[in-house]
Amino acid sequence: MERSEDTKIVIVGGGICGLSTALALHRKGIRSLVLEKSEKLRGEGAAIIVQTNGWRALHHLALASSLRSTALRIHRGKFIALNGNEAKEIPFRVCEEFRCLKRIDLMEAMANNLPVGTIRTASHVLSIQFDSVTKYHHLLLSNGTVLQAKVVIGCDGVNSMIGKMIGLKETQHSMISKDSKLVRQSLMESMEGFPQDAMEMIENCELNSLHLTTDLKYRPPLDLLLHKFRKGTLIIAGDAMHATG
Ligand SMILES: Cc1cc2nc3c(=O)[nH]c(=O)nc-3n(C[C@H](O)[C@H](O)[C@H](O)COP(=O)(O)OP(=O)(O)OC[C@H]3O[C@@H](n4cnc5c(N)ncnc54)[C@H](O)[C@@H]3O)c2cc1C
Repeated sequence: MERSEDTKIVIVGGGICGLSTALALHRKGIRSLVLEKSEKLRGEGAAIIVQTNGWRALHHLALASSLRSTALRIHRGKFIALNGNEAKEIPFRVCEEFRCLKRIDLMEAMANNLPVGTIRTASHVLSIQFDSVTKYHHLLLSNGTVLQAKVVIGCDGVNSMIGKMIGLKETQHSMISKDSKLVRQSLMESMEGFPQDAMEMIENCELNSLHLTTDLKYRPPLDLLLHKFRKGTLIIAGDAMHATG
């Protein structure tokens, strides 16, 4: 069993939230260890729009000025609503700071500013048990290692294992995503007016080949207001606390 006195804080998940939490702690002179189950840091998706509050956070992490140089400023844009063959354009203007960044640039900037050894990839946390005598959490990893930590911060995303442990209700999945017939029906409805061959392809395809890739999840605002996001020294943050898909 590994117990490092330096690693009192373990962060589960090396996404944007896990890395920014580790960096915020580092800027305050506090060490932490980030455990990420993937083989390498994943900048999933090409880009991310960072709004004013995000730039404020990046400023406090001392990353804003370097990231601004590679980010694309957005001054105005338009939403396009498609209704059959008709496209309705809804223009908008941006008064505050809106910039589009490559996700991987953001992840790498955070990772590169952390002390060597802070991030451990290929470290899948399978379970966490609290020892009421030592007051340490025991984290079992998929490679058989057991780590001990005083504080565990769950930045493990929308299906957070740690969120479940602290008693957060599971987010409600959309009914559509569970039933491929409903996926097909909703797709056909939203594609009304598309060329006939595209419609036929959806209509005739194997049901098990249809997936709703953005699995909609919803946590009622009241749950967010009433729930505690901490149980003892187990805490959650980021999408684990509130998904922003
Ligand atoms: C399509 C889409 C577009 C978006 N666009 C924007 C945008 O423009 N602007 C914006 O601000 N936000 C945007 N968001 C939201 C934003 O991407 C998320 O809020 C953010 O990435 C969440 O980061 P996170 O670190 O909390 O979670 P994640 O990115 O989900 O990271 C969780 C990490 O934990 C790891 N993990 C999970 N379980 C374990 C375990 N047991 N052991 C070890 N590791 C584990 C995972 O491998 C993962 O790397 C978008 C989201 C989506 C889906």
